[in-house]
Amino acid sequence: MTLATLVDVHEVELPAAGAAQHLQCRECGFRLPLGADYACQECFGPLEVAYDVAGSVSRASIESGPPSMWRYAEFLPVDAQASHRPGLQPGLTRLVRADNLAEALGVRRVWVKDDSGNPTHSFKDRVVAVALENARRLGYRTIACASTGNLANAVAAAAARAGLRSVVFIPADLEPGKVVATAVYGGTVVAVRGTYDDVNRICSQVAADRHWGFVNVNLRPYYAEGSKTVGFEVAEQLGWRLPDAVVAPVASGSLLTKVDKAFREFVAAGLVAEHPARIFGAQATGCSPVAQAFRAGAQVVRPVKPDTIAKSLAIGNPADGPYALDVVRRSGGVIADVTDAEIVAGIELLARTEGIFAETAGGVVVATYGRLLADGHLGSEDEVVLLNTGDGLKTLAAVEANCTPSVTIEPTLDAFLASEAGGGR
Ligand SMILES: *Cc1c(COP(=O)(O)O)cnc(C)c1O
Ligand SMILES: [Zn+2]
Repeated sequence: MTLATLVDVHEVELPAAGAAQHLQCRECGFRLPLGADYACQECFGPLEVAYDVAGSVSRASIESGPPSMWRYAEFLPVDAQASHRPGLQPGLTRLVRADNLAEALGVRRVWVKDDSGNPTHSFKDRVVAVALENARRLGYRTIACASTGNLANAVAAAAARAGLRSVVFIPADLEPGKVVATAVYGGTVVAVRGTYDDVNRICSQVAADRHWGFVNVNLRPYYAEGSKTVGFEVAEQLGWRLPDAVVAPVASGSLLTKVDKAFREFVAAGLVAEHPARIFGAQATGCSPVAQAFRAGAQVVRPVKPDTIAKSLAIGNPADGPYALDVVRRSGGVIADVTDAEIVAGIELLARTEGIFAETAGGVVVATYGRLLADGHLGSEDEVVLLNTGDGLKTLAAVEANCTPSVTIEPTLDAFLASEAGGGR
């Protein structure tokens, strides 16, 4: 995006976005009005939304709000009307107490925050909802994104519902389920023969050329805030308290940093008591630039070329990698990675203990939790929340080799009784 484009947007008078006050640089603190900017004019650092949350927010006011992520509107860059518009109403997904999984892993208590329950079956509906509110505010008629799959689903669906045009860019080798679950909504799908990082680069160039709202490029400061609602819900659903630890999947690193930001905002607003919630990151070994930087004690994240079945996490050059490292180190967590075989085992373990069919990213989280326990980074007494961010029905290929019928028989009772499944009572 060129400075000329930024100036264009600034020339329109921008209405306020709820409690949001301005954009602020995460590196140098430079402030800008709430426009379509994502890079600081002083130092090119990333921008974040800064707030003045009204003192009027209470547990009771949130509990009496809508049964969706909009119950936390006071903590988001949206106005009070957001929940009344005909959006997809994401959020308030279930927090499952996973006692069978706890028993299998030998721990006292673990929870699964199951974001596969969102309208397009991943946590991306949350970030898109906030981005779309701001796209509306800034006057964009075309909504676009660079996606590893789930974001494309969420953008295409939300645009259809809002009556906007969508143009989503994806790597051409994406899972067929994610391509179908995007194209069905009727927007434009651009498959790029390259990695997500190539897709992202092209989108930055297109964003400079067209007056389009790229949810994770020029609307990124707003988009990113939507992830806080995962953290808000965890705290509310635990009975207004923070867990000992959270294990979050890491692609760009945004979700992980925003869960931590959510916890700190709730503490600052007096909604939950201060508690040392440690934030852990989970990556696939085949795309683990942030885990590698963590192990090396490095501040900078060295880009990698992704090669993993966890395509939703396959970002080789993660925009928020350094911030994820900061959060994990400050909170006393760890960023670890697991192999593709461990990811499949993680998906199957969660399915077979809790009846939750996670996508590959959820397998990464469950397997990483097992690894963190084995390595002593988490103990059996720590109360941990695992984030399942997507639905296994979109990544069937990961498990299909192991998940076939037990037996196939001719259509007779005798054939059943003679088969392996027909034994016993
Ligand atoms: C996008 C995505 C993530 C990670 O999001 P970041 O905020 O980019 O780290 C995790 N899980 C799933 C299923 C996703 O689609
Ligand atoms: Zn700056």
